[in-house]
Parts: sequence; structure tokens; C-alpha cells
Amino acid sequence: MKLIFATGNQHKLMEVKKIMPSHIELLSLKDIDFTEDIEETGKTLEENALLKAKTIYDKTGISCIADDSGLLVDALNGEPGVYSARYAGPEKSDENNTQKLLKELHTSNNRHAHFKTVIALVTPGKEILFDGKIEGQIITEKRGANGFGYDPIFVPNGFQQTFAELSLDEKSKISHRALAVKKLIEYLNNN
Ligand code: IMP
Repeated sequence: MKLIFATGNQHKLMEVKKIMPSHIELLSLKDIDFTEDIEETGKTLEENALLKAKTIYDKTGISCIADDSGLLVDALNGEPGVYSARYAGPEKSDENNTQKLLKELHTSNNRHAHFKTVIALVTPGKEILFDGKIEGQIITEKRGANGFGYDPIFVPNGFQQTFAELSLDEKSKISHRALAVKKLIEYLNNN
């Protein structure tokens, strides 16, 4: 079975390729010569994941997956959520986003947050969503050099280290993205 992963992020592509069962031939947007930017106009992670997967499925007729993730902070009523990448502005700066979040939470005792990933699978006649979630705490200053985004200020429950202090292998075992991919693979293996 051929499956397109509608992402321009090579890191995500490698991560998912590593764990896909061998009967799935995973193609990237590069493999199908798709270079346009798909604008994420949805108001939820679910809407954006579906929008991306449907756009590519409609263009190619080949089954497609797409993902969208975000950090949801309790004290900020779930912000930055679907706007995580653009929290501090359209330039999508990890540093500015992180600093803005630390500032917003400056006086808050409630530091609880969770990362969530939604993966949409669009195949002929079917649209299915898979999600993954990891709970944790936002600390008061950055720690660690691995990963990306909000990793240096997020400590997953049950750990002492931030996501940015864990190795990629360690993070990949427990992350929101890994959990959603596992559900997708279970579905693909049984269908
Ligand atoms: P995406 O939809 O997976 O590209 O994620 C959107 C934004 O959410 C990213 O630009 C990051 O700011 C944040 N984010 C998503 N996943 C992670 C993660 O694993 N670590 C840190 N930040 C993340």
C-alpha cells in the first residue's frame, strides 16, 4: 500500500518511516513533487490535520496522512494550542514562543500542560483521526539543548528532565506524536 505523509518536515518523516510496517510504502511531499505551502486555516488540530491530508488526497487520489500538534496549557485555557507554532508571531520562532509562554505564566502556580498530536488518515471513502497526548509541567526557565519548540520548558510527568534533556530515542518512546503514530500503525496493520 502506498501512503503519502503530507509534511515538509524531514525529521518527522524519518521518525515515522522508521516505525512503519514494511507493507506500507511511505512517500513524502518531495517524492510527489508537491512544493506548495498548505495554509493551516483550521481552528482545531483535528481540522488542520484533516485539511492537509484531504488536500493531498484530492490532488493525487493516493491515501494520505497528515499531523498537527500543539501545547495546551491549563492556566491559559488551552493556549497556545492550535496556534503553538505562531504563538509569538508569524515568524514561528521557537525562542520567542517559549519566552512569551514563560512570561504569560510568570505569576501562575498552575504549571500543568499537555502536548497533543492529531493524525488524520484519508483513504478512499474514509477519514480517520488518531490522537496522542502527554501530560507534564511547564518549568520557569529553559533546560536542555535537544528537540525543538517548547521542549526546553516541558517536563513530562514521571520524569525529572525536560523533553530537551531527554535523548531523541527517549522522547520518541513517550511523546504525543509517538502515541498517535502507534495508534495509526495498529489500524494499518489490521486493515
Ligand atoms: P506541529 O504541528 O507538529 O508542527 O507542531 C506545531 C507547534 O507545536 C511546533 O511548532 C511547536 O511549537 C509545538 N510542538 C509540537 N510538538 C512539539 C514537541 O514535541 N516539542 C515541542 N514543541 C512541540
